[in-house]
Amino acid sequence: MGDELDVVVIGAGVAGLAALHLLRSHGLRVRAYDAADDVGGSWWWHGYPGSRLDTEGHAYQYFFAEDLVRDWGWSERFPAGYEVLRWLRFVADRLDLRRDIVLSTPVVAASFDEERARWTVRTAHGETVGARFVVACTGLTPGPALELPGDGFAGTVVRTSRWPEKGPDLAGRRVGVVGSGTAAVQLVPRIAGEAAAVTLFAREPVAVVPRVNTMYGWRERDAYRARFAELRATLPHTPTGGDDGHRAGDIAELYADGSRRLWFGAPPSAAVTTHVRAAMTARLGDPAPAAVLVPASDDAPMTLDAGFLEAFGRADVDLVDLRADPIAAVRAEGLELASGAVHELDVVVLTEEYDAGPPALAGVEVRGPGGRALADAPGTVLGLATPGFPNLFTTAAAPAPTSRDAVMTTVREHQAAWIARAIRDLDAAGGTTIEAVVAGADTVDGVGDYVARCEQEAAAGYPSFRRS
Ligand SMILES: Cc1cc2nc3c(=O)[nH]c(=O)nc-3n(C[C@H](O)[C@H](O)[C@H](O)COP(=O)(O)OP(=O)(O)OC[C@H]3O[C@@H](n4cnc5c(N)ncnc54)[C@H](O)[C@@H]3O)c2cc1C
Repeated sequence: MGDELDVVVIGAGVAGLAALHLLRSHGLRVRAYDAADDVGGSWWWHGYPGSRLDTEGHAYQYFFAEDLVRDWGWSERFPAGYEVLRWLRFVADRLDLRRDIVLSTPVVAASFDEERARWTVRTAHGETVGARFVVACTGLTPGPALELPGDGFAGTVVRTSRWPEKGPDLAGRRVGVVGSGTAAVQLVPRIAGEAAAVTLFAREPVAVVPRVNTMYGWRERDAYRARFAELRATLPHTPTGGDDGHRAGDIAELYADGSRRLWFGAPPSAAVTTHVRAAMTARLGDPAPAAVLVPASDDAPMTLDAGFLEAFGRADVDLVDLRADPIAAVRAEGLELASGAVHELDVVVLTEEYDAGPPALAGVEVRGPGGRALADAPGTVLGLATPGFPNLFTTAAAPAPTSRDAVMTTVREHQAAWIARAIRDLDAAGGTTIEAVVAGADTVDGVGDYVARCEQEAAAGYPSFRRS
């Protein structure tokens, strides 16, 4: 047996960094492990060209310490992924978190010893560490991985959800982008013109609204910093956890704001989706790509774009509708479609979404008392704890809000603070274990409702938990 700790945190992204700091602030011995080679979580993994926030930067911050907001300044209204990653590195350095973070180290197993009331956590390098609590800040697994039908491609295959820190270099190369979700919307206009040619192999389209991004100087930063107290007090109680919730008003005006205000926080009305579809068709100016890129369904996800549709007006950007002509074979020189057409490529980019799917803890073999597997557990209390698994907390499990409908810094900061408080309350009551006893409701009505329910649970003395 290796070291003995109070808490093992798995993950060093937005949730893990907040958890490490807040738990440490309660005087606990905490260590965080991450499989990645640096802090940052999904911002480290998804460093593809064009990766960017759809949330305005001023809301995408931690509000537990004012100096973090005062001493960090976003350079744009919607910061790029590399700037978000730099911010998380700044947070780790400023709060001196790195001394308790072990990088490049996947956690592969965690098992609970009932007699000692402790978890034993094992890493892929074979080390074990003991802890009273495990806090899983593992994020959500990207949706089902895109797979090519064969691996005979002579060029490079790369995934947006596993983008290597350096490269690949796309300049002057023929790039095929498979998938047409947010990652493709962000990537294609960014690499068009730099790559020799780009071909989008489109699947289900998403609705896009042109992002109105502005540079931020000291004036804009001072303006949002002056709102610190107001933002800290209000964000956790809004439907989205952000400052960009759905607003009543003229659709054309909201569209012109170039943000998520048009649809975020409430399902978009038919009037909104009709407006967006019409605008997309007008931007494309040609019915052929519109038939592929404009979603037919009102339920299609919406995202912000910067020249995605216009890219298809370029001679060096091509479009293939995989719904009509699927990939039939992977050849050394490229992709062959069912129609027999062969697209010669140097690089294939598989675009994967970043925030949908089962909790990533699925990658860890978790065994509770009696050897019970977490994978078989029926549900959670507010996504934070699972009946049958004492002293284990999670952040990314349902029904916690996801980035499809929420600002994740708000959600994750709240969860980390809630977990730290639950442990502190347990210790204050002289207890050893805290375990969810009944799985709660499967849905929550936005961030405000989620936060209120978590708060009620703690204020009422944790009625959904057994503490002993
Ligand atoms: C391109 C892009 C755009 C986005 N835009 C927005 C946006 O506009 N607004 C918004 O709110 N959110 C957005 N998101 C979602 C973003 O993921 C969240 O905002 C937030 O970063 C999630 O943080 P997290 O800590 O919960 O999870 P993650 O960032 O996913 O971090 C989880 C960490 O856990 C580690 N981990 C998992 N399993 C293990 C294991 N077994 N052992 C060791 N380590 C493990 C992973 O390596 C990872 O580093 C975006 C994400 C991307 C990639």
